[in-house]
Amino acid sequence: MENTSSEHVHCLIIGSGPAGYSAAIYTARANLKPVLYQGIQPGGQLTITTEVENYPGYPDGVQGPEMMVEFEKQATRMGADIRYGMATKVDFSKQPYRVWIDEEKLMEADSVIIATGASAKWLGLPSEEKLNGYGVSACAVCDGFFFRGKEVAIVGAGDTAAEEALYLSKLCTHVHMFIRRDQMRASQVMQQRIREASNIKIYWNTVVEEILGDTKVDGVRIKNTAGGKVETIPVNGFFVAIGHEPNSAIFKGWLDMDETGYIKTVPGSTRTNLEGIFAAGDVQDRVYRQAVTAAGSGCMAALDAERWLSLRPH
Ligand code: NDP
Repeated sequence: MENTSSEHVHCLIIGSGPAGYSAAIYTARANLKPVLYQGIQPGGQLTITTEVENYPGYPDGVQGPEMMVEFEKQATRMGADIRYGMATKVDFSKQPYRVWIDEEKLMEADSVIIATGASAKWLGLPSEEKLNGYGVSACAVCDGFFFRGKEVAIVGAGDTAAEEALYLSKLCTHVHMFIRRDQMRASQVMQQRIREASNIKIYWNTVVEEILGDTKVDGVRIKNTAGGKVETIPVNGFFVAIGHEPNSAIFKGWLDMDETGYIKTVPGSTRTNLEGIFAAGDVQDRVYRQAVTAAGSGCMAALDAERWLSLRPH
């Protein structure tokens, strides 16, 4: 679709997690008059989490959604222009760079900070897709409530799966946790908490073959890969917690990425292969992926953008 309107800005920030908002706070204070587009999930992944206990400065912990409201307020107070809208297409062939919002509004930007984060991964089963929203979910915190007093299953063995299993164990009668290997990837402290929860049952070496149910989940068929035993477990809810993938699809072909789509940055900076385009947070970080590291790299991107804008030839 052809653009119906266009606007020129010094600094365009795409994404509204800790990286995007931190970049907005710093660029606004540097008087770059940043415009930030929030995307379809304002606040990013922290809005679908519960308590954040490891972000410095919150000794009593803080709810993820509440923390992101605070980030947004701070960015707005510093003068950042925060807008609802989704970047749907880019043209990075020349400067100023062009970014289309919601397929119609054209933004022209001297510098771009990409902070689009990552999204949940799915198993890829047809039954998972069919029953998504009808008992299948990738967010226990969002949907666990619907399964109060019921029996649920969760797949995954990282910190997210552990956290979500514990969350569900407080609402549900039983939590069946399927782990594809004979060990968990989650941190020791989380594994310990899982072991201590009396209503979480772990199934080692177990893969999910099918999620059962016509119009809503009523069970799951699993297979033990060590012995080959197949069994059906009746559950009402099925949660997927197997990691995330970077939200970088619209930048493919323009920016260098690794094989899984994480945007490559020059080590020690947020610079991409294109001058004036910076990447921060989970979209470029497959290792740390924490709110605090995302915020830190958002700050780096802001400083990199500020420096680049002041040094570039006019
Ligand atoms: P991870 O990538 O750490 O873990 C993904 C898990 O899903 C792994 O156990 C993996 O199994 C399993 N898995 C992947 N694909 C499949 C599949 N097709 N079928 C079955 N299982 C599968 O992702 P997380 O989201 O858990 O964590 C991401 C990062 O965020 C980590 O660094 C984590 O420590 C951090 N985090 C920290 C928290 C905290 O500190 N409070 C809370 C949540 C996350 P396998 O092990 O066999 O590869």
